[in-house]
Amino acid sequence: MGKRDEGLKFVSLAHRLRTLGLGLGMLPVAAVLYQQQAPLWLWSLLFANGLLWPHLAWLHAVRAVRPVRHEQFNLMADSVMLGAWIATMRFNLLPCAMLVSMMAMDRISAGGWRVLVRALLLQVASCVLVAWLTGFAWQPSSDMLDIVACIPMMAIYPVWLSTVNYKFGRRIRQQNRLLEQLNRTDTLTGLANRAHWLETAAREMHRYLRNQRPATLILLDIDGFKLVNDRHGHAAGDTLLQELAGVLRENLRSVDTPGRLGGDEFGVVLPETGLERAREVAERIRQQVELVWAAEDAPMQPCTLSLGVAEVGPRHPNVEAWIKQADVALYLAKAQGRNQVCASSPAVVEH
Ligand code: GH3
Ligand code: MG
Repeated sequence: MGKRDEGLKFVSLAHRLRTLGLGLGMLPVAAVLYQQQAPLWLWSLLFANGLLWPHLAWLHAVRAVRPVRHEQFNLMADSVMLGAWIATMRFNLLPCAMLVSMMAMDRISAGGWRVLVRALLLQVASCVLVAWLTGFAWQPSSDMLDIVACIPMMAIYPVWLSTVNYKFGRRIRQQNRLLEQLNRTDTLTGLANRAHWLETAAREMHRYLRNQRPATLILLDIDGFKLVNDRHGHAAGDTLLQELAGVLRENLRSVDTPGRLGGDEFGVVLPETGLERAREVAERIRQQVELVWAAEDAPMQPCTLSLGVAEVGPRHPNVEAWIKQADVALYLAKAQGRNQVCASSPAVVEH
């Protein structure tokens, strides 16, 4: 969504809130004008402000080059108008206090304390000006009609505004979750990316150190992947990587974490799993890949997998050492002719 579209969304939300707020806010002002037996021109101003202004403000904002900037001007205009009505109402206590507090709530949700302070300053200035013009009329006591006329706004407006704020907060939370997920995912395969996979391995290592629960790593690399790219193109290579991700997902439990470490190298963290069990899982993956990718009628350059397996143990001073051991096992699998699973014993890696 473009910046202008975002701006127009904000303007249309402000339009709805202004239409509701001024519609409800007109009632207590009308109650006071009625008791003052106000002249027709004042009534006309009230109707213009309550019923016409929200739509005029919206029209101007959507036509403006910078809708949000214009909407900020509209917010300030609202405050000037409210200041004038407070003086016109001769400071009738309850309606004035309610309108000021509703407006303050609205300004904070529109733009925080900076917008509120600016709005309040303008409100005070216009109130003082109109009070001066009307001879500082002062009638603060509110009667029953004033109180009743305040009730609709008090009952409806805060609920409406909080709902809008809640929905907004929920949307932000959802977007944050999505961003977090994207940050952890390899875009090509949908598996964990390198950073997230390393974090998972480190977490398992800590669990092992805390309560000696077993955990095993499998590192795997496609044999002869370069040839696939060379003969069938990069896109075919990508498809193969995605297929391998599918094979891993199918053969693993939901608690296991497969990840793409880069290029054609993948890793799996298997919690609560000893070396023998992990070796079986690795062998199953190897066989499945061999069956599909190295079959006689395979559509592409036949290729297989080499896999290295390492269980976490007391000889590993840190997660890097554990990964290094799985890497050594993978290297052995490659060195011994590829298309096989190797497990390296901790003794192989000395520090
Ligand atoms: P080996 O058996 O020794 O592993 O041989 P290999 O041909 O698989 O060699 P290696 O693992 O070193 O090659 C990895 C290749 O993967 C090199 C690079 O061109 C290719 N590659 C890396 N990332 C991508 C990718 O995202 N998509 C595709 N299609 N190819 C990639
Ligand atoms: Mg390879």
